Amino acid sequence: RPILGIETSCDETGVALLRWEPQAPGQGLLAHALYTQIKLHADYGGVVPELASRDHVRKLLPLVREALSQAGLTPADLGGVAYTAGPGLVGALLVGAATGRAMAWALGVPAIGVHHMEGHLLAPLLEDDPPEPPFVALLVSGGHSMLVQVEAVGRYRILGDTLDDAAGEAFDKTAKLMGLPYPGGPALAALAGQGRPGAFRFSRPMTDRPGLDFSFSGLKTQVLLAWQQSDQSEQTRADIARAFEEAIVDTLLIKCRRALQETGAKRLVIAGGVGANRRLREELAAAGVKDGFKTYFPRLQFCTDNGAMIALAGAIRLAHGQHQDESVQVFPRWDLQTLPPAA
Ligand code: ATP
Ligand code: MG
Ligand code: FE
Repeated sequence: RPILGIETSCDETGVALLRWEPQAPGQGLLAHALYTQIKLHADYGGVVPELASRDHVRKLLPLVREALSQAGLTPADLGGVAYTAGPGLVGALLVGAATGRAMAWALGVPAIGVHHMEGHLLAPLLEDDPPEPPFVALLVSGGHSMLVQVEAVGRYRILGDTLDDAAGEAFDKTAKLMGLPYPGGPALAALAGQGRPGAFRFSRPMTDRPGLDFSFSGLKTQVLLAWQQSDQSEQTRADIARAFEEAIVDTLLIKCRRALQETGAKRLVIAGGVGANRRLREELAAAGVKDGFKTYFPRLQFCTDNGAMIALAGAIRLAHGQHQDESVQVFPRWDLQTLPPAA
């Protein structure tokens, strides 16, 4: 029976309905609906936690109704509920967890709290030709930049992490310091498309020494200096955006190659909001062809936060008999490596 997936960890309310199809999970996706709070937070230049929680309260049940009606289902048809239990904003998480837990209790079906980054990591499974473990995953989102060795669903080893800013955060902050409105990441990437190659060049942080960790905050400072010392024209802004994007993509590519070499993996999964970046997708796919590894991406819509990835991760765990007790628990900080295996 279909699983209801609920995502409310940050500033997106996401809902999806998914029937568990082990061979082709994407074919089990019956409906999905998303509401983004971007406009609500734009005036503040970032997500305001209390406003986010309140807006999830307003939008979540209407979205659940919308998804059910898209799929032609009623709540009584549900076989389980999956909600994001962390990491994320505590108030925002509590809205999804309390709603999901309450619905499951009222319907007499199991509920499961899902790790948001496991959701991102498994999102490519919703596409045709889904990746099979073992693989390496590059998780690049607003709050995380990680390389993860995946032996099976739930068996994760973090190979590399960011020491400061996440890749998405670096995009957003860099956009902001060149005067682009919040959230600047996608706008900066669009601008990079009009930039001239070679007009500026920034460093590839931490690639000159061994290891798989990232550090992107120094790049931001380089951009700030270049921008302040420039004529600040439209073309210059695009040129800097281009050089910045190249530096990030190049750095991620170098570390991905290194991780694949170290683990001997032949498959690379890319997920999280920055996974929507066109240059990153093209460069990694091209490297895969050249080096002989296969790349797997979610569709653009499922790179950023969504309910479908939570429904999927939850459905896998529910299918393995895992579920939560009646208490409503969330984990604003939560180590991916502590999850139980589901295989
Ligand atoms: P986390 O998943 O770590 O909790 P999050 O959920 O806020 O963080 P996502 O929704 O996965 O993050 O992704 C949002 C991030 O992706 C933002 O930082 C945004 O700037 C970035 N992003 C989205 N599209 C692009 C793009 N085309 N190029 C670069 N960055 C992008
Ligand atoms: Mg978001
Ligand atoms: Fe996310």
